[in-house]
Amino acid sequence: MIELKDVTVFYPQAKEAALKNVNLTFERGEFICVLGPSGAGKSTMIRTINALQPVSEGKVLINGEDLSKLSENKRRQWRSRTGMIFQHFHLIPRLTVEQNILTGLFGKRNAISNILGLFNASEIQKANEVLRQVGLEQMTDRRVEWLSGGQKQRVGVARALMQEPEVFLGDEPVASLDPSISRSIFQLLKNIHENEDLITLINVHDVFLAKSFATRVIGLSDGKVVFDNSPETLSAEN
Ligand code: ADP
Ligand code: ADP
Repeated sequence: MIELKDVTVFYPQAKEAALKNVNLTFERGEFICVLGPSGAGKSTMIRTINALQPVSEGKVLINGEDLSKLSENKRRQWRSRTGMIFQHFHLIPRLTVEQNILTGLFGKRNAISNILGLFNASEIQKANEVLRQVGLEQMTDRRVEWLSGGQKQRVGVARALMQEPEVFLGDEPVASLDPSISRSIFQLLKNIHENEDLITLINVHDVFLAKSFATRVIGLSDGKVVFDNSPETLSAEN
């Protein structure tokens, strides 16, 4: 369970807070879409959850534990259990699909084996399993730079899955993709969500995607929660 309690985030030099007294609780099984215009605070909220952005006021609790009070080691452990996917994928273009998804294990391994690129048989087997899950088993040895946008995002999803995440976080993961590809990525995320019993929280611009896939929709505007309900209650004009 993830709880944001009265979370406020000020960036240095900013006139206004990026998040203002946000109170939200997320539980396993929820597939949450966060809607809101650019600058609403969606990315900031994701970064407070994966401990990349400290809160200025309030707190973030992970299974009851205050994230800001965890040791650096524990915080890193938590981060390694949050799978992240991004609008611009953040993949390494010249490496192959398999090499990219193996980087998902880096948070869990020692630095030397990461530098040497040594992976054991069970890690490679896991990579193959995950590639099957996202439908890229034919692409294992292809360089990521040759893939389409939708395929790249499947690699992003696969890399996150390598971490065996408890939480899946998406920062506008389909904002650069065509509508039909976007739907297929959401369908993949939904299938994974249902198989793995996760908390899935995705920032998205498209109300229609949120309506079709989310179990809960949150609206952010100017750093405040302005909507928090089931997708059926979203009206067409939202
Ligand atoms: P969204 O993801 O909804 O577009 P963000 O969380 O990126 O919103 O941004 C919320 C607000 O905080 C915006 O006004 C943005 O300009 C500002 N902001 C985001 N990151 C930083 C930063 N590192 N430093 C200063 N201001 C920032
Ligand atoms: P992306 O397109 O990959 O989501 P963004 O353009 O939203 O990237 O933001 C890139 C980086 O710039 C982020 O780390 C964010 O925190 C920072 N950022 C966003 N808005 C501001 C701002 N107003 N001032 C300073 N940094 C910002």
